[in-house]
Amino acid sequence: MTGRPLVGAGLKMFLGYAETIGYLRELAASAAEFDGVSVFVLPSFPVLAAARELLAGSPVRYGAQDAHWEESGAYTGCVSPAVLRELGCTFVEVGHAERRHLFGESDDMVARKALAAVRCGLEPIVCVGEEHETDGAAATIVGDQVAAVLAPLPSAADVVIAYEPVWAIGAETAADPERVAGVVAEVRRRTAGRDGDLRILYGGSVRPGEIAGLLAAGVDGVFVGRAATAVSGLREVVESVRAVA
Ligand code: PEP
Repeated sequence: MTGRPLVGAGLKMFLGYAETIGYLRELAASAAEFDGVSVFVLPSFPVLAAARELLAGSPVRYGAQDAHWEESGAYTGCVSPAVLRELGCTFVEVGHAERRHLFGESDDMVARKALAAVRCGLEPIVCVGEEHETDGAAATIVGDQVAAVLAPLPSAADVVIAYEPVWAIGAETAADPERVAGVVAEVRRRTAGRDGDLRILYGGSVRPGEIAGLLAAGVDGVFVGRAATAVSGLREVVESVRAVA
């Protein structure tokens, strides 16, 4: 790991509007406990305008869970990365496994979304991961996905890679650190020489007890779903990261 560890909470569609507002208030109030760790949250789109106010002056950053690959146009129901930037987002997640499966997003679409995000001044969080636990060549599969998505991006763009094995999302336990270490090494090998920052997060059933092993595998932090749907859970994760880092 280089620099401050990074911890992200992806709230998916778990919380209602009022619940998310309460979550963000509590998160802002907890920020003093996050010293030494960079924390971000990805709420659903309608909450982003409120996030701008609720997290103003807080070190906690926020972003969206998706964006379109164009900045404007006839794309009913889609959200422009330019609008996300106007709303003060730092990050945008692209290519989450659920979007790939439920909405047929390919590496090519994810690459276009990542490029649009960069053009709009957002840092893409590019989700990649092999489908099955039995996939022996996880490092190669993930390395190929990373290469495909980063290909059109300027070398100077800062990027977060979220390694999220599909089979470990919503599961009982995270992938084992040895597997994560192999993937991380391959992603670093394939991205060596880029000019921008490249941070790698592990996501998929992260629990506080697994964090020491995951950080030892070489990731720069963790990306958390269910365990971060209450601020108390996110605080526990951050505490575990601080204990190791
Ligand atoms: C995710 O889907 O990005 C994720 C990390 O989910 P969970 O932690 O719930 O497995």
